[in-house]
Amino acid sequence: DRLKESKVYMRALFDYIPADDKATPCQEAGLPFKRGDILQVVTQDDPTWWQAKRVGDSNLRAGLIPSKLFQERRSFRLSRKDRSGSLGGGATSDPTDPDFATYEEVTRYQHRPNERPRLVVLIGSLGARINELKQKVIAENPHRYAVAVPHTTRPKKPHEKEGVEYHFVTKQAFDADALSNKFIEHGEYKENQYGTSIEAIRSVQAKNKMCLVDVQPEALKTLRTSEFKPYVIFVKPRVPESRRRRSAATSPDEDLQEMRQSAQQMDQQYGHLVDRVLIKEDSASACTELRGILERLERETFWVPLCWVR
Ligand code: 5GP
Repeated sequence: DRLKESKVYMRALFDYIPADDKATPCQEAGLPFKRGDILQVVTQDDPTWWQAKRVGDSNLRAGLIPSKLFQERRSFRLSRKDRSGSLGGGATSDPTDPDFATYEEVTRYQHRPNERPRLVVLIGSLGARINELKQKVIAENPHRYAVAVPHTTRPKKPHEKEGVEYHFVTKQAFDADALSNKFIEHGEYKENQYGTSIEAIRSVQAKNKMCLVDVQPEALKTLRTSEFKPYVIFVKPRVPESRRRRSAATSPDEDLQEMRQSAQQMDQQYGHLVDRVLIKEDSASACTELRGILERLERETFWVPLCWVR
C-alpha cells in the first residue's frame, strides 16, 4: 500500500547508466542516476525492472531502473568473475561490500529537540587532519559539541583530570573492554592503548550535546544504528592537479599522489555510506563549512535509512 502512494524511496548506492546496460529492455526508457541520488520508486510490479523518478528532478516521467534483487544478482556474478578468475573459485558474498551495495530504503527525518542529537562521524583520507578539524569546531562551541572521552592505559599527567582528557584505566581493564566490544575503535601508541567506547558517545549525547568522532571508516559498521543515526562526513583534502598550481605550503609530488589514491580508495570502499563530502581547501574554510553542516543538521530534514525510524 505504501507503493500505491508511491512513498517508497531508495538511496542509490551505485551509478547507473542505462546506455551501458545491455540487459535493459529499453535503453531510452532507462533512468540514469548516480550513487547518493534519492529515487522515488513508482512501481515494483516487475521483479527485474522498477520504475522510478529522481527526487528533485524536474522531469516528471518515471524511468526504468534495475530492481534491487536483479542488481544484487548481477553484481554478484560479475564479482565472481573478477575476483576468482575461474568460476566457482572461493568468492563469497558480503552484503556490506560496496560491490554489492545497490539501494537502501530511506525516509525523511528531522531531528526534534527532545531527541538525542545525531552522531557526527568524520572520516578522512590521507592529509585531511580530521582530529584537528573536530577539535577546532568543538573549541568554538563547547556547549553544543563535544568529543567522546577516550580510554587510555598511559599514566595520567599532573595537569590532566580523570574523565576530561581521558578515562585512565589499567591494561587489564582495557583489554577486557576491548574483548567485550565496548570500543568503536582502539589502537596502540608508544606501547599504550587508546580507544573510544560506545558508552563515551552515549554520555555526550545524554548531556544533549552533539558528539563528534573521527574514526577509521571500518567503525561505520558498528556505528550505523538507529540509536546513533550517524551523519557521515568524508573530509577530502583538495589535491592540486598540477605542479604549477601547487602552493608552497603543500607536500611534495609523491605525497600528492598518495593523497589522491587514499581519497579514491576511501571513496570506493565507503562512499556509499557517506552523507556529505567536505572538500578541504585549508583548515579555516573547512572549519567554517563543518560548522555550517552541523547547524543545518539540527534544523533541516535529511534522508536516513528507513529502519532507523521505524
Ligand atoms: P597522548 O598520550 O599524547 O594524549 O596521545 C597520544 C596519541 O594517542 C594521540 O596522538 C592519538 O593519536 C592517540 N589517541 C588518542 N585518543 C585515541 C583514541 O581514542 N583512539 C586511538 N586509536 N588513538 C588515540
